[in-house]
Amino acid sequence: MHKIDIELIEMTLDVMKYAIGRISATEHHIGKPKKAEELKALVGDTITEKGIGGEYAFNLWKEHLSKANVPVDHPRNLAFVPASPTRAAVMFDLVTSASSIHGAYWMEGAGGIFCENEAMQWIVSLTGMPEGAFGVFTSGGTAANLSAIVTAREYWRRDDTYKREKGLIITSIGAHSSIKAMAKVADVDILLVDTEEKLTGIALQETIENLTFHQRKRLFAVVATGGTTNAGIIDDLEGIAKVCKAERLWFHVDAAYGGGALAADSVRPLFKGIEKADSITIDPHKWMFSPYDCGAVIYKEPELAKEAHSQQGSYLDIFKDEGAHGFNPTDYQIQLTRRVRGLPLWFSLATHGTDRYKESVERGIELAQIAGRMIEADPNLELVREPSLSCVLYRRKGWKPEDYTHWTYENHNKGFALVTPTKWKNGEVYETVSRFCFINPDTTEKDIQLILNSMV
Ligand SMILES: *Cc1c(COP(=O)(O)O)cnc(C)c1O
Repeated sequence: MHKIDIELIEMTLDVMKYAIGRISATEHHIGKPKKAEELKALVGDTITEKGIGGEYAFNLWKEHLSKANVPVDHPRNLAFVPASPTRAAVMFDLVTSASSIHGAYWMEGAGGIFCENEAMQWIVSLTGMPEGAFGVFTSGGTAANLSAIVTAREYWRRDDTYKREKGLIITSIGAHSSIKAMAKVADVDILLVDTEEKLTGIALQETIENLTFHQRKRLFAVVATGGTTNAGIIDDLEGIAKVCKAERLWFHVDAAYGGGALAADSVRPLFKGIEKADSITIDPHKWMFSPYDCGAVIYKEPELAKEAHSQQGSYLDIFKDEGAHGFNPTDYQIQLTRRVRGLPLWFSLATHGTDRYKESVERGIELAQIAGRMIEADPNLELVREPSLSCVLYRRKGWKPEDYTHWTYENHNKGFALVTPTKWKNGEVYETVSRFCFINPDTTEKDIQLILNSMV
């Protein structure tokens, strides 16, 4: 398996050809999922004692399996938070794989980690956090949020008074599902302020004042959102930062989706206050055009993360020795062995420069504004709220929830577009509405118009 022969050389060329095709393609097909049984019927047994051979397996991939995926970088894939990795980043993802770098410790991965840190330095600079703030790349926003919550909780429990208390955090219902999920993992209770609109410092203060004595004792952190996943809403970060400071609470900003917009001058002022955060989550695999998977967590005081996450073991002692000194990404998040997943981002940033990133993010924001105007111009359609960042929520007048679902499947089945409905909380009711999220700068105005026209 580890030898080189002519078959291996041929396979290498085939794989490269496929990768080149994918990287240089200007059009992609929107694939469709199939049931596992259907896929099994198409490909048969793939794992056998003798193997089916690389060429045969690769053909199965090309013929059947690759087509059961929806490429996230299709210009008419506007569902959830799509993605649009740059071609340079995808290329360097290949290099990252080919280089077999263990990205946990400087001793083994210095070159790769150096590159990651160059990219991280730029991200940190966008936040405006003070000198000393730094971060690491994680598998995604979920892992970043967990790493931050655990760091905050460990810091809080330094004080013996809280050693046996179950922690409590406050966020709003606009927060991403991963906050709730990760609070569960960290065994922390969560209190949701009931607003999908901007969480304000005033609402936070009121919520704190209404806590019982014991709840207040257990409260250790607040999670604000820097661009809600559903609607692109940025909480009142400045106001929340003030309350957190006065109440001595850890201030985490989840900007997994919205973080890329820190690069966009047109909306940067909306993030005022983010520089006061104790920790921030940003997903380069969302709006910084990295391939999956690449999240990031940044800390005002990275030493606190190290106290929470640094792993101890006799087999790891060598990494703490003189000579191995350098930045060890494993110390600042939950994972030990890790891919140097910031490397593709570094190469793309180095290739294109940060101005191009600014422009590409601005384009997503502009597309949301353009879509908003098209929606207002169409008598059948109506904005639910003004577009925010690159999210647009709108309704097709007269449509019931099932109409939206039907429309989604119809467009998907035709291989035309993937646009999915969501719910928006209006007073006490959750209304089903349609949603766009723009990431891909190659999405055109015509794409948007065609999608809107399909809502007849
Ligand atoms: C997407 C998202 C997450 C989760 O990030 P993953 O990379 O999918 O783990 C967390 N928070 C927000 C605000 C998000 O948009």
